[in-house]
Amino acid sequence: MMEKKLRQEAKALLEQKRVDWIVGFESGSLKFTTTPLITRNVADTERLVINPFITNNLANFLTEIEGRVGIVAKGCESRSIVSLIQDNKVDREDLVILAVPCPGIIDLAKIERLVGKDRDELDDITRDGDKVSVKVDGKKKDFAVADVLFDHCLACELPTPTEYDILLGEPRQPTPDLKVSGQNIAGLKALTSAERWTKWQDEMSRCIRCYACRNVCPACFCERCFVEETEPQWVMPMPQWPDNLIFQVIRNIHVAGRCTDCGECERVCPVNIPLRSLTREMYDIVDELFKFKSGMDKDALPLMVHYEQEEAEEFFK
Ligand code: SF4
Ligand code: SF4
Ligand code: SF4
Repeated sequence: MMEKKLRQEAKALLEQKRVDWIVGFESGSLKFTTTPLITRNVADTERLVINPFITNNLANFLTEIEGRVGIVAKGCESRSIVSLIQDNKVDREDLVILAVPCPGIIDLAKIERLVGKDRDELDDITRDGDKVSVKVDGKKKDFAVADVLFDHCLACELPTPTEYDILLGEPRQPTPDLKVSGQNIAGLKALTSAERWTKWQDEMSRCIRCYACRNVCPACFCERCFVEETEPQWVMPMPQWPDNLIFQVIRNIHVAGRCTDCGECERVCPVNIPLRSLTREMYDIVDELFKFKSGMDKDALPLMVHYEQEEAEEFFK
């Protein structure tokens, strides 16, 4: 239903020349995957899909595309778009936001763990309300949706964009399950600081510095990333745990007040480093200290350019 409406609206936007580009999702070449579709060709709009596997945060492409864009946006994507507008990286006038009320995205890694099979061996995955059915070896196994959604979807505060031009379906209310979603972070917090230090040394030792986490993130928009600077050289380019850790710590500080907990950095990490344990913790600290949730209000000042008389630092007063 939403998919049909999306295709109609996207087609009309291109035909009426209200936008130069459509940015959405199409089916991927692998099972249960989608891939971004960026097109100015009217016929391509028939390839647009909306399904439980539309993982990417498409806002990431907006800083690269010139011209007016019709963009498909789930709630978290819409928050990233708003954050980019707040930072003057994107002009609201150049966008037509096609809003998807989002029921959450299925985490294939969780399904693989639950059924003990690789995704290639699964016959089908379907969702019906709060139940997800997986067909494997001719048999059907049912799971509660809370067991198979991405952790960040279980903490979702805005499933339906509030900043949009065209709403593609009935609005959905947030139903966050913060306990389940925050299990990894709570586990880390339960460790002593010495144990945590060892844990992050181990995690960061696995980083191969592919920069997928940075490249997929709409909040990471510096034209030249500090890791690529040579004068001064902030971190060594070789993947060694201390430099890998510094990379992640500084990246987190750079996205503080911009990160919308879309979960993409953790999803794309090829060595499964639990990056959301850092980004979500930063998100919560920003909220606790500054009462600021990124991407909720396009007219609000960005966190890092907004100072109050009560600032602790004399420098800011
Ligand atoms: S975080 Fe919310 S809007 Fe984003 S994919 Fe998950 S449920 Fe959808
Ligand atoms: S995606 Fe993972 S492996 Fe790649 S740079 Fe980021 S943390 Fe390292
Ligand atoms: S830091 Fe990670 S979770 Fe936050 S906006 Fe970037 S990709 Fe999304």
